[in-house]
Amino acid sequence: MIPLMHPALVRTQAFINGDWYSAVSQKTFAVNNPATGELIAQVADLSSLDAQHAIESAAIAQPVWAQKTAKERSILLRRWFDLVMENQADLAQILTAEQGKPIAESMAEIAYGASYIEWFAEQAKRINGDIIPPSRSNQRISVLQQPVGVVATITPWNFPNAMLARKLAPALAAGCTVVAKPAAETPFSALALAQLAQQAGIPAGVINIVTSSDAPAIGAEFTGHPAVRKISFTGSTAVGKLLIQQCAADVKRITLELGGNAPFIVFDDADIDAAVAGAMVAKFRNAGQTCVCANRFYVQRSIYNAFSAKLSAAMQELCVGNGVNEQVSVGPLISAAAIQKVQQLVDDAIAKGAVVSCQIPVNIEKGYFYPPTLLTNVSVDSDLLEAEIFGPVAALIPFDTEADVIAQANCSVYGLAAYCYTRDYQRIQRLTEELQTGMLGINTGLISNEMAPFGGIKQSGWGREGSIYGLDDYLNIKYINESF
Ligand code: ADP
Repeated sequence: MIPLMHPALVRTQAFINGDWYSAVSQKTFAVNNPATGELIAQVADLSSLDAQHAIESAAIAQPVWAQKTAKERSILLRRWFDLVMENQADLAQILTAEQGKPIAESMAEIAYGASYIEWFAEQAKRINGDIIPPSRSNQRISVLQQPVGVVATITPWNFPNAMLARKLAPALAAGCTVVAKPAAETPFSALALAQLAQQAGIPAGVINIVTSSDAPAIGAEFTGHPAVRKISFTGSTAVGKLLIQQCAADVKRITLELGGNAPFIVFDDADIDAAVAGAMVAKFRNAGQTCVCANRFYVQRSIYNAFSAKLSAAMQELCVGNGVNEQVSVGPLISAAAIQKVQQLVDDAIAKGAVVSCQIPVNIEKGYFYPPTLLTNVSVDSDLLEAEIFGPVAALIPFDTEADVIAQANCSVYGLAAYCYTRDYQRIQRLTEELQTGMLGINTGLISNEMAPFGGIKQSGWGREGSIYGLDDYLNIKYINESF
């Protein structure tokens, strides 16, 4: 049992057309707490047939939702934001129970997710058209922005609240309705969000939550159903590529927020203490399970030992354990398989010459915990410099020149986030121009917020979430040429 002020926020059925919904097959799947391995609850396990029902409900609701005035949609979104923040503590408990992150991080994620709802409640009123000067005097050229229609979303387990809020809010602001498949590991945050949306007065069918353990089947239904006009996906690059292929059949629009491999570059003119503080956030937040996590630390040779010693000292303050305990700063990984993957990457790095400079012991018998680890002397051919580590492992590589490190940083198929620490103004201008990334943190390890465009280049994805750009993917442009 999760201790909540409002226990009814924990739902185990899917949510379709404003009703709580069991799979036609009556099947369920188990959701466990990764910190204890214990069962939280069995959840409705929907099939593609159930998903079809959700899509049809969203399709019926969509024109009615789109006909509301922008102000009406804005007011409902704002009410939803208020309810999410009123229930922040409960939503954070649900999040920590299913995902494992420390409770303070869960509180922050709820506020972060809610900030997108607030932002797009405001932006809903600013989806303007345009009038363009024509080439003839008896002509008028105008541009309308219209909702794309039904949107299907697929979201991961690492930010089960915020990744969904970041898609639902712009979709609803634009006049779209949504069928959403949360990750099977973390369905409760999504179901609680939908419940609060209903309480806020958002009509039946506008948000539908399809819980399922069969992601390929639901993905195929979402991409194959003609009523779905757009997919918005956050997850692995491998699944993103598959969804692109599936969307090709009927040229469905798709937005993708995929994997990253963020370089974190520390130059010898940097404030080393600030760089260490930034590194701790960029590496150990969510136990290293974020797509913008620092994956490769490049440290200029003359300060390499000093940075490594200070990072190691800062890591001594980490406290690994069940996130419900307030002193815990690093929770579990999501599964046993995740631990195995991180261990393989660490073993490979050690086999290629890396040294374990620091490892914070974990004395917990249950749950999926991995010790925060600092690897130095990491060889450039180590697998963990190419793969997303997705665990609390910091890999340090020395570099000599700016040109060298830019080349190494850019040597990745990904281009999501990058971080640099330097006090040289001209160097900052060069890095800003030359680093191949969608997002760049200069002297900061935390870059994500609702007013900025979040997204990547190269194999890190298509499109942007948040900011004034975040509505574009949910709108069609219609141009009208009127002669008179
Ligand atoms: P991760 O490795 O972080 O779990 P995934 O890309 O596997 O990343 O998962 C992200 C989301 O994509 C989850 O909701 C998952 O259920 C879903 N997913 C996984 N495989 C597929 C698939 N073949 N089709 C559609 N969705 C999928």
